[in-house]
Amino acid sequence: IRTNRFINEPLLDYAPGSKERKELEGVLEKYNNQVADIPIVVGDKEIKDGKELFQVSPHDHQHKVAKYRHASKDIIKQAIESNLKARKEWERTPIEKRADIFLKAADLMAGKYRADLLATTMIGQSKNIWQAEIDAACELIDFLRFNITFSRLVTEYQPISPDKGIKNSSVYRGMEGFWAAVTPFNFTAIGGHLPSAPAMMGNVALWKPSDTAMLSNYTVFKIYREAGLPAGVINFVPADGPTFGDTVVSSPDLAGINFTGSVKTFKHLWKQVANNLDNFRSYPRMIGECGGKNFHFIHPSADVESVVNGTIRGAFEFNGQKCSATSRMYVPESLWPKIKDGLLSIHKEIKTGSPLQKENFVTAVIDDKAFARIESYLNHAKNSPNTTILAGGTCDQSEGYFVQPTIIQTTDPNDKLMKEEIFGPVLTMYIYPDNKCMETADLVTKTSPFALTGSIFVKDQKAREVLIDKFRENAGNFYINDKSTGSVVAQQPFGGTRMSGTNEKAGGPHYLLKFVSVQAVKETS
Ligand code: GLU
Repeated sequence: IRTNRFINEPLLDYAPGSKERKELEGVLEKYNNQVADIPIVVGDKEIKDGKELFQVSPHDHQHKVAKYRHASKDIIKQAIESNLKARKEWERTPIEKRADIFLKAADLMAGKYRADLLATTMIGQSKNIWQAEIDAACELIDFLRFNITFSRLVTEYQPISPDKGIKNSSVYRGMEGFWAAVTPFNFTAIGGHLPSAPAMMGNVALWKPSDTAMLSNYTVFKIYREAGLPAGVINFVPADGPTFGDTVVSSPDLAGINFTGSVKTFKHLWKQVANNLDNFRSYPRMIGECGGKNFHFIHPSADVESVVNGTIRGAFEFNGQKCSATSRMYVPESLWPKIKDGLLSIHKEIKTGSPLQKENFVTAVIDDKAFARIESYLNHAKNSPNTTILAGGTCDQSEGYFVQPTIIQTTDPNDKLMKEEIFGPVLTMYIYPDNKCMETADLVTKTSPFALTGSIFVKDQKAREVLIDKFRENAGNFYINDKSTGSVVAQQPFGGTRMSGTNEKAGGPHYLLKFVSVQAVKETS
C-alpha cells in the first residue's frame, strides 16, 4: 500500500465451521436481537432529536433493524459549520497522515469489523453472504486502499522547471467549503466511498446516508472515527432528501455534490445549484452516478453457455438492484432455442428467500416503493399484447418484499421494458432475425437515454470489431463475452455517460482529481 502497487482484498469463503463463518454467525445474532439506535453525528456531538424513524429488514417486516431520526434544517446547518471548522486543520494535515487514517480504517474493515459490515448489510439491505462480502468488505476496503495509493501518485506530479533560477511547483489542496455526499442503499461500499474519497484528498464532507442502509453506513462511519478521523471531517447526517438538498445548496460554501441515485434527483440538485450560482463562493463540482438500462447483445457466433451463465448473474444477482444490472437482451433467432432452454433451466433452480440462508440467490428488494415500482412493470408485462412472461412474474410482500426473478420476451424493441430502468430482478429480451444483426445493434444504441454498462457476446472476429465500434459511446463500462455487472476497483473503473452520469470512474485513477484544487507556484530566486 505504501508503494504504488495495489492488490484487491481477497474474498473469504465462509465455509461452514470456518473461523470467519462462526464469527459472522455470532455477529448476526447480535444484530438480530437488537434495534440499533443511530444518532446524527455533528462534530463530536451525537444528536437524537426529532421523530423516531425505523429501518426495517427488507425480507422481514417484523424486524426493526435500527432507529434513527432525520436532521432538521438547523442541524444540517450546524453540521456544515462543524465541517468548515474541522476543515481548517484537516486541509493542512499532510497527505501521509490522512492516508494513515484511511489505511487503518481499511485494516479494521478487513479484520476486526468485517463481520459487522457483512451482518449489517445482510440484515439491513438483504444481501446474501457472498454479495455482502463482495460489497461491504472487499469493495469498500479496495476503494479506501486504492484511493490512498492513487492520492500519492496524484500529488507526486510536479511541473517542469526548465529555466535557470525558476522553480515551478504544484500544491495539491482540498477544495474550499464542504462536499455533500448523497449515497444509495444498494452498495455499502458506495456509501463509504462517496464521503471518504473527498476526505482523503483534504476535503470535508456531509454524509447523507440512505434511510434503507442506515445501519451498515453508520457502522462504516464509526470505523472511520475509530481509525482516527477527526470529528467534523465527515459528519453523519441522516435527513430527508429535499430538506438536505435545499439546505446544502443554500450554503455559499458548497464545494460539490458527490451523488449516487436517480436521474431525477441528480438533475433536481444540479438545477438548484444552477439557480444559486450567484450565492456560491466557488463553482460547486457535480459528480453523479445515476443508473442504466444495461444490455447484453448476443451475436449469432456467441458461446451459448457463457451467455446463459452471464445473463443469469447479470440480471438477478442482488435482485437486479445494481446500476449495472443486465435488464435488456438482444438474441438472434438461431441461438434463441438454446439460450431459452439454458436460462429457463437455471431459472428453475434459483431460490428466493431470506439472505440469511445461504442457498437463496435472490432475496428481498429494498422497500415498499421499490416493490410497487417493480410490480407495476410486471403488470405492464402481463397486460401488454407484445410481451410474454417466460419465467417468474410473481411477487409477494406478505413477509418481505420478494419479487421472483422474471424473464420477459417482447416483440417490440421499443417497449418501455426495453427503455426504462426497473432496478429489480426483471430481464426483458427481444429476439431478432439473424440477418438483421447489425441493424438491431444500431437500435440498441438509440433505445435508451442511459449509457452505463453493456456487453456483447461474440466469437466472430470481424463482427466483434464492428460491434465494438458501434457501441463505443453506449456504455461507460463495456464487456466483451462477459456479463454487464461486477466491476472491480482498479480493474474496471466504474461510471457511465449520457443520463447515467458524469463518468468520473470510481475505483480508477482519475476520480480523485475531482476533489483536488491545485495551486501552481512559480518562484524566482
Ligand atoms: N460496480 C457495480 C458493478 O459493476 C455496480 C455499482 C452500482 O450499482 O452502482 O456491478
